[in-house]
Amino acid sequence: MTVLVFGSLNLDLVTYADKLPAIGETIVGEKLLRFPGGKGLNQAIAARRAGAEVLMVGSIGNDSDGDFLFDILKSESIGSKFITKTAEQTGIAVIEVSKSGENRIIIIAGANSKTRFSDEILTSSPSVTVALAQLETPIAEVAKFIHKSKAAGKITILNPAPIQKLDEHLLEDTDYLIANETEASFLVGNSVESLSKDEASAIAKQLQKSGSKKVIITLGAQGSIYLDHEKSLFTPAYKVNAVDTTAAGDAFCGAFATAISQGRPIEYALEFASAAGGLAATKAGAVPSIPSQQEILSMITSLD
Ligand code: ADP
Repeated sequence: MTVLVFGSLNLDLVTYADKLPAIGETIVGEKLLRFPGGKGLNQAIAARRAGAEVLMVGSIGNDSDGDFLFDILKSESIGSKFITKTAEQTGIAVIEVSKSGENRIIIIAGANSKTRFSDEILTSSPSVTVALAQLETPIAEVAKFIHKSKAAGKITILNPAPIQKLDEHLLEDTDYLIANETEASFLVGNSVESLSKDEASAIAKQLQKSGSKKVIITLGAQGSIYLDHEKSLFTPAYKVNAVDTTAAGDAFCGAFATAISQGRPIEYALEFASAAGGLAATKAGAVPSIPSQQEILSMITSLD
């Protein structure tokens, strides 16, 4: 019952200052913090903490940032045999945050741009039941990973973030497409940042026509909608005291993959993922906010 995650690992360098500097301006900041990040690593941690065995495929540089991320995988008990060291530097996100919460981010893909799929990944991992990917590694490799995983009988999940145009074959090979509001809109040629439930349902139907079998659109504090050929479901978000929604989507995707790897019904998987996303919004940061299985389960039972 292993979840195989194909994705990015980044070092997030976060600087905090009263305001963001104007072009050409130098200002004095408050502090600089280093966090593990990257959608791949966040989702691998989310799936692992939610209770799955997890194996990650990704690349790091031959540098101290890479060692830092590798140690995080070890401390989270995530399988690292498919983590490759490359000549490129470890992926980095340089994030500037102002007192009022504005941010500016530059991402250097670095080693992530060298991540490759090979057949050996699947043939040597028979316990894998679910294959999960995002788009911070080369899309051609993601497409190969999803295609070969599907052909090998795995359940495939794609979170198309950061969003880019998807080939129709990639959509057809994807069992569950999990997109947020902006991503879902982009995929049907629109550019809106928020959607009503009805608008999201209409987009999900359009995506089904383009080849997606099962579509989930996450709607932040509203919840999420799900559409397959038999049913449509709405899962309301949990009412939480949201302080920072960074990684809510990653927590949702990782927990969803875990529930699906355990053979849970879709209604349960969506509820479990929704609790994970809601809990991630209650704490600052990405990895520090990703909840444990116990926290998710107590959130769900508190509903009864
Ligand atoms: P992303 O982080 O990819 O933009 P969303 O913001 O849609 O994704 O969040 C993913 C899921 O996390 C939502 O569908 C919801 O279940 C949960 N979530 C996100 N923000 C909140 C919030 N403020 N309150 C409760 N749940 C939330």
